[in-house]
Amino acid sequence: MTSRNDSLFERARKRIPAGVNSPVRAFRAVGGTPPFFERASGPHLWDADGKRYIDYIGSWGPMVVGHTHPKVVEAVQAAAARALSFGAPTESEIELAEAICRLVPSVEMVRLVSSGTEATMSAIRLARGYTGRSLIVKFEGCYHGHTDSLLVKVGSGALTFGNPSSAGVPPETAAHTLVLDYNDIVQVETLFKDKGSQIAGVIVEPVAGNMNLVLPRPGFLESLRENCSRHGAVLLFDEVMTGFRVALGGAQARYGIRPDLTTLGKVIGGGLPVGAFGGRREIMEKIAPLGPVYQAGTLSGNPVAVAAGLATLKLVEEKDFQSTIEATTRSLVDGLIAEAKKAQVVFSAQSVGSMFGLYFRASPPTSFAEVLQCDKDRFNRFFHALLERGVYLAPSAYEAGFVSAAHGPTEIDATLAAAREAFGS
Ligand SMILES: *Cc1c(COP(=O)(O)O)cnc(C)c1O
Repeated sequence: MTSRNDSLFERARKRIPAGVNSPVRAFRAVGGTPPFFERASGPHLWDADGKRYIDYIGSWGPMVVGHTHPKVVEAVQAAAARALSFGAPTESEIELAEAICRLVPSVEMVRLVSSGTEATMSAIRLARGYTGRSLIVKFEGCYHGHTDSLLVKVGSGALTFGNPSSAGVPPETAAHTLVLDYNDIVQVETLFKDKGSQIAGVIVEPVAGNMNLVLPRPGFLESLRENCSRHGAVLLFDEVMTGFRVALGGAQARYGIRPDLTTLGKVIGGGLPVGAFGGRREIMEKIAPLGPVYQAGTLSGNPVAVAAGLATLKLVEEKDFQSTIEATTRSLVDGLIAEAKKAQVVFSAQSVGSMFGLYFRASPPTSFAEVLQCDKDRFNRFFHALLERGVYLAPSAYEAGFVSAAHGPTEIDATLAAAREAFGS
């Protein structure tokens, strides 16, 4: 009997490059056939062969309340029955903008878009338009979507002018992007001393979740804030992943830093395409038609997507939501560490809010270079051992994991039982 997953993958590859609409889904890093999913509920997914999985990807972050939450589905159905799109203003957009500004106080004005990539692309243009400067600083291993100027990461080590890390990005574009090592305060200081007056902005994942999970070292975010303020550069926190997840107010609330601009995505769409960028009023007023920085979108603020986002934020805001999901995530991480220790496997793990990182190395990494030291082969074997046992982790050693509010002790215990067998084998 051939598996439906296999035959679907074969069919997909004929018409879709690598059979997928986003690269990491193709399982190239871990090998094998990706499951094709048919439905989801709470913490679970079902693939085309009817197999059930406990989901630790959560659509790469958005599904923080769990899959097909009745309140979110109901809000989407009601909105869809009223209208699919107007391309004109609606009251629900104001509600979502108000909710964002209330939950993330550094955001005084906000504009909605349809993806995280659109949000960062627009925010970068705004930082440049506001300052009249060109240079953007980013950190190696941070991902900010696939816009040209941010698709730059460069070889590890010292501060370098950017080389594009994708074909099709003109070197002249990449040359305006400077790449530093995450958590390296000395590099930040040195760069600002040298080029401070030319820097439009610094973009950072305040908790890095696209090179596995790397936490900001004490003082790192503070030094970014200080240098940007001193040199008139815009500090941009990319909270597309961390927003409403690392804390209700995002990483900026957790670490007590007020950025000038913030980008959001993932959770604010609750599984539908919504992104946002916002921040200081003075900067946001430079956006067209108030100001000279152009930005637009046919489906921006789409009423169905906004309904999903609003319903999700309402749940995320409930009392004890964040503390409960954080405790669940910690119990997963603590359990995995204990199982690895019993099996004498070199392993470490950590969590922040409902994000977690697993590392086949003795201690959690604090830099991109340390992330690269993790044992990738071991991760791949662990990944497949868990997948076989119905636990769905991200198919790459360089991605953070996500827990939802629908995950409870039953799912954690089942995951730890699977991990016990995986570590043992
Ligand atoms: C996912 C992600 C993006 C890109 O968002 P898309 O909706 O995939 O375009 C940008 N920044 C960060 C930090 C992300 O995690």
